[in-house]
Amino acid sequence: MKWQVEIKFSIIVVCLFCFFMSAEKSFSNDRDNVSAKKKIMVEMQIKARGVNATNVLSAMEKVDRHLFVPQAFRENAYLDSPLPIGYGQTISQPYIVAYMTEQIKPQKNMRVLEIGTGCGYQAAVLAEIVKEVYTIEILAPLAEAAKKRLKLLGYNNVTVECADGYKGLPEYAPFDAIIVTAAPPEIPEELIEQLKIGGKMIVPVGTSFQQLYLIERTEEGTKQQVLLPVRFVPMVKSE
Ligand code: SAH
Repeated sequence: MKWQVEIKFSIIVVCLFCFFMSAEKSFSNDRDNVSAKKKIMVEMQIKARGVNATNVLSAMEKVDRHLFVPQAFRENAYLDSPLPIGYGQTISQPYIVAYMTEQIKPQKNMRVLEIGTGCGYQAAVLAEIVKEVYTIEILAPLAEAAKKRLKLLGYNNVTVECADGYKGLPEYAPFDAIIVTAAPPEIPEELIEQLKIGGKMIVPVGTSFQQLYLIERTEEGTKQQVLLPVRFVPMVKSE
């Protein structure tokens, strides 16, 4: 009788072992799969189009974009397109995120402000490179979700604020750079005042037709450059 119990117990132990081994194998397959998709995304969509700053490329390869999009779009997270993130908002195409990040010339010691947190993906990419990221989102549920997500993923150098981005964050200014990821109809002057001299702001400007502007604050005023036509969700004004 006793030996029968021992045999049953051994069978259970062997089955559990096999189950955990196969689960672990499938997790590591998923991990390999994600790193392969990220590598292809960086090579084919980003490097191939001319982004070559190594700190930007490695940040793009590090951040798990699939963890920032709704479950239904995870499969498509590494494709060459924007994706819906709820509340009528979108996460930009990976190339645009990389391009905008490269344009502000991010460095380790910088403090950067982002307007339009959305799901927090652009903030995470910046946080891989710079010292501190401040990001403002006007929609409370998106701000809350991004705050939780970024904390869970260990981004302790990101501060998420739910507020109107047009006002910036004067209490933390001046910033080394500002990235605006929603489109105001005109260049938001109040934000330029929160830039350091020599600091850069990248911003999509316009309504139905939008252009991406790179603005540098100088001693005398600003230097402006129009980079390319883009399509972003509107930067809304709070009442
Ligand atoms: N950078 C985001 C995507 C931005 S989508 C990401 O990586 O996911 C643009 C976001 O800007 C939306 O979430 C929208 O709600 C927000 N937004 C629009 N107007 C705003 C404003 N005035 N202040 C702050 N956020 C704003």
